[in-house]
Amino acid sequence: MENPLDQLKTLLKEKGYKLTPQRRAVLNIIMENQGQHLNTEEIYDLVKTQCPDIGLATVYRTLQILDEMGLILKINLDDGCSRYEFNNHKEDHQHHHLICQNCGAIIEVGEDLLDPLEEEITNKYQFTITDHKVKFFGLCSKCR
Ligand SMILES: [Zn+2]
Ligand SMILES: [Zn+2]
Ligand SMILES: [Zn+2]
Repeated sequence: MENPLDQLKTLLKEKGYKLTPQRRAVLNIIMENQGQHLNTEEIYDLVKTQCPDIGLATVYRTLQILDEMGLILKINLDDGCSRYEFNNHKEDHQHHHLICQNCGAIIEVGEDLLDPLEEEITNKYQFTITDHKVKFFGLCSKCR
């Protein structure tokens, strides 16, 4: 696969945007923090260490652009903010998230595990599944 930064550069160019250091920094932060599910403020704080002049509005706008371009995924974990993660195209279907209702920890389930269910749905409802967003709520190992 093409390097995500080159991909971003090409996609931005097609739309008449430039790959500014700020946009590059936002994508880098998300790539470097795989599995962290950072929200906008957390991304802003991290990007500021590299680009001290960046404003929150620029971060918002950049996240929107990266999301539109399919380079990142916006995830809503019902905790009142939008979180983002790098769109790993190696994953056919989105991985699942376990959300601790006590401490708010977010745990990723790497495997899909839904194959038998997907097969049953496809057969029963004549429905082709292309993706899913699954959230499990409960208590993490520390809070049980
Ligand atoms: Zn699946
Ligand atoms: Zn917990
Ligand atoms: Zn995730």
